[in-house]
Amino acid sequence: MMNILVINSGSSSIKFKLFSFPEEKLILKGMVDRVGSADAYFTFSMDKKEEKNIVGAEDHHKAFSIVLGRIHQENLAIAAIGHRFVHGGKYSTAMLISPEVKDYLKTTFDLAPLHNPYHYEGIKSCEDLFPKIPQVAVFDTAYYAQLPEHVYLYGLPYKYYLKYGIRKYGFHGTSHNYICLETEKILGREMKDLRIISCHLGNGSSLTATRNCKAVETSMGFTPLEGLLMGTRSGDLDPAAVLYIMVKEELSPSQADSLLNRQSGIYGISGISNDMREILREMKEGNDRAKLAFKVYCHRIKKYIGAYYAILEGLDALVFTAGIGENAPLIREEVCRGLKHLGLVLDRKKNEKNQPGIISDPESKAKILVIPTNEELMIARLVEEKAG
Ligand code: ADP
Repeated sequence: MMNILVINSGSSSIKFKLFSFPEEKLILKGMVDRVGSADAYFTFSMDKKEEKNIVGAEDHHKAFSIVLGRIHQENLAIAAIGHRFVHGGKYSTAMLISPEVKDYLKTTFDLAPLHNPYHYEGIKSCEDLFPKIPQVAVFDTAYYAQLPEHVYLYGLPYKYYLKYGIRKYGFHGTSHNYICLETEKILGREMKDLRIISCHLGNGSSLTATRNCKAVETSMGFTPLEGLLMGTRSGDLDPAAVLYIMVKEELSPSQADSLLNRQSGIYGISGISNDMREILREMKEGNDRAKLAFKVYCHRIKKYIGAYYAILEGLDALVFTAGIGENAPLIREEVCRGLKHLGLVLDRKKNEKNQPGIISDPESKAKILVIPTNEELMIARLVEEKAG
């Protein structure tokens, strides 16, 4: 038996889960939130008991010593620690941490400035506190490392790809990878036969087309801004529109960045909220802007399904996951409406039950499924492969 600790270290929070292998059993989980502030707090749950305490976590290092110290009290040997890394740059698989890997990871900070420095901080803190435990970095981008050049290149001068690595990288890869493996289990077919479109619909949303166990297209790009409409991100738009607004409103690059990443999307269109629950509630009350945000959101997903159907040359499974994908029957219904010609027919009753499993009608050629994602478990599996 081996215990694997999975860490997701962000700018102000550190989330963790400990799994035992080979059973893949969740043993404990928790988080330190508001790291760096006076009211940082620590939650820890194990055996259905939950603790919540205000703690002195003035920096990440202190927060990690609280997390690892508390886990230590349970006398559980940790065989390896896995760190979620949003951007892996050139890395196409999970990497065992070594001085060379750390040196390279430092060069990826400006590709994901809001994430990678904090993930790196997690590695350093764990190394200081537990120098003997092997650590592995698992990258959201790695699932897309084998996308062909004609898929990941933008229509910009090629020199910028060479000079700055401007290309589609793709994100949410750990989730899409997990979903495809689960789909294979549920449908009981060899993965190489399956053509899957997975819809990760959360605050950040993305679609991925997978064939023969490999991602062949994905909607996020150089950053997670591209593709679907999201909570506060615009998704696809004509770049000229951004330049136009920048000139008219005299916006700096960082103001434009904030406009696209924080003030747009469902929130920007509805003027209400980035939270889909709120939008659905307001729609019931007859709010037109909420209806509009809902329509734009679903339309964009449908458009990508059509595109990916063409790229996959057919489809075996359409899968919904994450906060919205797992919990919002109305979104799934709207997305699947009128797709019979692609072989997709939803069973409305099964859809409305809102439970994981197959929600397509028997006459549907491709299966439609709801599968809860589990990124931490997928990270733990990849860590076990590397360090086990
Ligand atoms: P994150 O990208 O932050 O991990 P999640 O996967 O948790 O996001 O998804 C968050 C989104 O899921 C929010 O828009 C939230 O409103 C939506 N959501 C959660 N539960 C429901 C529900 N019951 N019905 C509709 N939307 C939901």
